[in-house]
Amino acid sequence: IYYDGATTAPKGSAGVRAITLGELSRISYEHTTAKESIEMLECLMAHSDELDPVTRRKASELYRDYERTHRVPIEEFVAHQQLCSEADSVWHEAKVKDDFSMFEPYLQKMFDSTKRMALYMEPDKRPYDTMLDNFERGLTASACDAFFDTLKKRLVPLMHKVVEHGDRVNDAPLRQSFPIAKQKELSSYLMDVMGIDRDHCILGETEHPFTTDFSKYDVRITTHYYENNFAASLYSVIHEGGHALYELHTGDELACSNLGRGASMAMHESQSRFYENIIGRSWEFCGLIFPFVKKEFSPLLDGVSDEEFYRMINKSSPSLIRLEADELTYCLHIMIRYRLERAMIDGSITAHDLPHEWNRLYKEYLGVDVPDDTHGVLQDSHWSGGSFGYFPSYAIGSAYGAQFMDAMRKDVDVDAVIRSGDLSPVVDWLTDKIYRFGMVKTPEQLIRDTCGAPFDPQFYVDYLTAKFTDIYGL
Ligand code: ZN
Repeated sequence: IYYDGATTAPKGSAGVRAITLGELSRISYEHTTAKESIEMLECLMAHSDELDPVTRRKASELYRDYERTHRVPIEEFVAHQQLCSEADSVWHEAKVKDDFSMFEPYLQKMFDSTKRMALYMEPDKRPYDTMLDNFERGLTASACDAFFDTLKKRLVPLMHKVVEHGDRVNDAPLRQSFPIAKQKELSSYLMDVMGIDRDHCILGETEHPFTTDFSKYDVRITTHYYENNFAASLYSVIHEGGHALYELHTGDELACSNLGRGASMAMHESQSRFYENIIGRSWEFCGLIFPFVKKEFSPLLDGVSDEEFYRMINKSSPSLIRLEADELTYCLHIMIRYRLERAMIDGSITAHDLPHEWNRLYKEYLGVDVPDDTHGVLQDSHWSGGSFGYFPSYAIGSAYGAQFMDAMRKDVDVDAVIRSGDLSPVVDWLTDKIYRFGMVKTPEQLIRDTCGAPFDPQFYVDYLTAKFTDIYGL
């Protein structure tokens, strides 16, 4: 229903869809908290040492869902779902009209409602920690602080040096008019290069690209085409394609169970951003796809060399829009959102303060002036859908990806594989180490088992430093 609403449903259907989704969440709540379900789960939990590991984990995850859900009063639970759907359609309109005041009361209600839900679920925990934990199990604000501090310390000085030498990379050829029909052919080519099974994954078009799945056999990704910026869709397709590969390669035996999906949001983002950036913006991958790109858009890029293409695709400059941010400045966009979410949840600012605070932090972190709320606080869909605590997953996932690449290089000659145009050894390695386990292993276990060590953001910082030092000749 959500996918339908974002793609083909008529605009006027939002109200009744909100009611429908509210009703479905009521049914879900009733099943999760039904006497029979609880008795079954309690029995399984009491005998957990007699269960095989997969069944044990299925049961413990369901039991955790139950424990958290049943503490929320049903009316509140349903009202929250309805509010999410309504706020989402108001946000769409507010963004188009550049009118934050329309959205402000909904946003405040969303924050308040999400905070109440967090307090019901985990009364003894700080609400923002519960929200982070909803997307990345065990993640806390203090862990985020330490992580972002590491990034800030190393990446902000690097970004300043890059800005000083901004003229060393020219991306003007990317700012021409690229026919949408040609861009669609490029999307199709990219899905083939990535080895995405088209019988089980389709590509749609939405304002904001996303991935959703009904099972590993029905995965849907979307993109958005801009005539004057084909790289936006190019990298959206690769990003969402990375999410899709994860879902498509979860173990068959987990299909249609509560474990048949990616381990967590950050783990999912580690895969999408791994493909988008570490693979997709690598020298080898740019070299692989550029002949097709050049031919497809001829004569627009005829005078551009392989090296120039690689460099322009990786041009770094502080900007307004997270989704269009380059690999280096991206995490600063996330840090801003993280700081604002925390401040909203602890009550030190209200929705009314957000545009001002947003613009202030963009100036402080990225040095840019925000011209209007459409290009500022209204740009992302996450808060309108109630996803508070999601943003850090992008940055943490990016850092997981760099650590995975270090491990992958010990087993696979990644550069040679990409140059060959057959990426299946990369997909096979990820399937073996990560994809097939779905939610059977936690993110922490996946990292330890794959990399032989706990999560360490140093890999990410080192990777970015080496890459941008090289591109900008610093
Ligand atoms: Zn993503």
